[in-house]
Amino acid sequence: MARSKKILITSETHEKAVLKRSRQTASVQFCGECGQEAETLSLNEAAALLSVPWTEIISRIASGEFHSAGSDERCLAICVRSLRKE
Ligand SMILES: [Zn+2]
Repeated sequence: MARSKKILITSETHEKAVLKRSRQTASVQFCGECGQEAETLSLNEAAALLSVPWTEIISRIASGEFHSAGSDERCLAICVRSLRKE
């Protein structure tokens, strides 16, 4: 009993830490697809937000469903606006 309760608390703490971090790193970049500036998330943050593997995010960017914003190709910035269309 006591053991499973402890695990639950640990995972909740982890979840809050992830949310806090993504808010701190959220950056605004120009999205060519939207034709305007958009809030962006990193690949890992977008995957965490949608609870899908990052490979899923990559394939949806490739299909044009999600927008990749910004000019740095080594560090993908995913347009939050395109994620919200879900
Ligand atoms: Zn966009």
